Amino acid sequence: MSSQPAQALNITPNFFVKSIPGVVSSLAVRQGTGPLAKILRSNALYPVFQPIVALADASIHSHEALIRGPLNTSFHTPDFLLAAAAREQLNFEFENTCVAAALVRWGDLCESGRLFVNISAEVLVQVIKHCGSMPLIELISAFGVMPRMLVLEITEYERVADMDHLAKVVAEIRSVGVSLALDDFGDGRSSLRLWSQLKPEYVKIDKYFTKNISQHADKLKTIQALQQIAAIFDTDLVAEGIENESDMRVLRDLGISYGQGYFLGRPEVMPLANIEAKVLGLMRDRRVSVFPELRRASSAGSLSRLAVLDAPCVGLSSTNDELASLFLQHETLHAVAVVDGTRPIGIINRSQFMNEFSKLYYREVWGRKHCLVHANLAPRLIERNHNVDELIGILTSDDQRYLSDGFIVTENGRYVGLGTGEQLVRSVTETRIEVARHANPLTFLPGNIPISQHIERLLGSGTEFVACYADLNNFKPFNDQYGYWRGDEMIRLVARIISAHCDPQRDFVGHVGGDDFIILYQSDNWQAQCQEIIAEFGKLAVSLFDESARLAGGIQADDRHGVPRFFPLTTLSIGAVKISCCEFATAEQVASVAARAKHDAKTAGEGLYVRDAILVNASR
Ligand code: C2E
Ligand code: MG
Ligand code: MG
Repeated sequence: MSSQPAQALNITPNFFVKSIPGVVSSLAVRQGTGPLAKILRSNALYPVFQPIVALADASIHSHEALIRGPLNTSFHTPDFLLAAAAREQLNFEFENTCVAAALVRWGDLCESGRLFVNISAEVLVQVIKHCGSMPLIELISAFGVMPRMLVLEITEYERVADMDHLAKVVAEIRSVGVSLALDDFGDGRSSLRLWSQLKPEYVKIDKYFTKNISQHADKLKTIQALQQIAAIFDTDLVAEGIENESDMRVLRDLGISYGQGYFLGRPEVMPLANIEAKVLGLMRDRRVSVFPELRRASSAGSLSRLAVLDAPCVGLSSTNDELASLFLQHETLHAVAVVDGTRPIGIINRSQFMNEFSKLYYREVWGRKHCLVHANLAPRLIERNHNVDELIGILTSDDQRYLSDGFIVTENGRYVGLGTGEQLVRSVTETRIEVARHANPLTFLPGNIPISQHIERLLGSGTEFVACYADLNNFKPFNDQYGYWRGDEMIRLVARIISAHCDPQRDFVGHVGGDDFIILYQSDNWQAQCQEIIAEFGKLAVSLFDESARLAGGIQADDRHGVPRFFPLTTLSIGAVKISCCEFATAEQVASVAARAKHDAKTAGEGLYVRDAILVNASR
């Protein structure tokens, strides 16, 4: 990294004595015996500069100054220096020296760009208390740096006890043209309140959230949430710690304004004039990145909607006569809940009860007795935001009484109403279908919603891509013959083979449902990859058939009309169509043209069929 000797920076102790009264000239530095005091006295600190890059056009937006101590000593890195400053109680002196060193160097270099300089919130407040803002501005200008080219990066702001005071200090600084950034947002106890209160021009997102973002959907979603906040406060985001191409692409495609990290440029003694040609080439490649998807299908989450009947209930002392009149009043009620206060303890099934009640002399003998004797005292209770996975457990359990009795809906344990078995089945199914639209529960591949979103991103970027629709031939007879378990195996096999023939950074694989898959290729070798997918599937799918079928080259099964006939072994067809964004406006158009290409491919028999998009459009 840097090797600039401190002396070459032309920073003398006198300079600071003149410039920041009471800072470096402080008694603590002059008389300090610790290693940092010595370093400060000998002027051995110097800044290095790391570029901050506009991700949209790969231009250098600014640089961040990062302090360095004497080379080849443990005090070279800021972490050690900061720790020493805390130990020697020289935070104020150390941080001010860092700011001054950065400004002096920047001024000496006659750099015209913006400079980001780190300062802790605590020291910033102290500086303004000591000097007021005007001397600070004069100082900045004296170093040859224009205040509006300076961005103060506030660190350690989460420790601030008096936020209102910090806000006043910041307002004072900004009134003279200096901008503000919150550093390392998301690290530790970052304060959203401070973001809202200070309205900084920039917020730098901590590297934890950018590292490997191309593989972590949760990080991506977090950054999207931060983008929404940034839009509210009119803040530009800077993504820190970009170390590789994939992360850069995802952050660029998300629309993050600026990036910083080793991939774009390391901290160096001399500010970077231009982005390295190789990196520039990669940044200007407009192909769209593939966003990681949340694997939601592994947990279906809670019920999105549970139908609830607003049904009357009976208490512990209610009689059979009262219950009977309730059923007569509410003709459609399939059951009534018995509650103890607000807590449901049983359920009484209408038809079972009415059967008893209509028997000879029942009313005379039992009419004024408790109706509790007819209750099922272990009713199905379902909390309103119940987890769907648990409800699936109910549907598949041995106790199927929910089908006749239905279930009781509660909220925080309190009676809310009733539901029927049929409603339960429908709610669970609808929720699962909704979930599958995000990610297929069988293959965990993205479902229809992310497929559409990705197509829209491709169309929006103006890049060319190839939409492929893959579908199995003779899958139904295979599934009928060997059952759904082996059918699922075959679908998972297709998913595995397709995924293995796609570049995860460039090509998107989606599972529409059943045996239908969509591949959105940006890789140039898409045609060869499709051929390999088809060939590999042909080879591996054979093993899923029984030996007799393998020998016969297929199976005997009923066709859709119930007529027995011979079906050859299952194969894969892929219909492909090249999409250029000027011909298509919506994801739906792309999906329908791809579906037609699939249809052509199936008609033509197994294999790859490439359809001409213009022809399809013209015939639309
Ligand atoms: P920071 O302000 O968040 O600075 C970014 C840190 O991340 C720098 O470490 C930088 O070298 C490092 N970095 C940049 N790109 C990447 C990357 O792609 N991957 C990884 N893993 N790291 C990357 P550095 O220079 O060691 O500084 C550490 C921290 O020390 C800074 O974090 C800042 O909080 C503090 N610091 C540095 N210079 C100063 C200064 O002049 N004054 C004050 N008060 N604090 C400073
Ligand atoms: Mg910083
Ligand atoms: Mg930072």
